[in-house]
Amino acid sequence: MPDPDPVPGCDVCAALAEQRVEAYRLRDLSGVTDANVEIRQHPHPERADR
Ligand SMILES: [Zn+2]
Repeated sequence: MPDPDPVPGCDVCAALAEQRVEAYRLRDLSGVTDANVEIRQHPHPERADR
């Protein structure tokens, strides 16, 4: 399964993506999976800013 892309402009996704990079660095595959699941499941209602 491919890694999901973080949504641009979403701080939470960006943080999860960083966490995933760190998990890859540590070869922590369950950490990578956790980050991927959270990115996939992070809800993105219509962005109200601007
Ligand atoms: Zn997000």
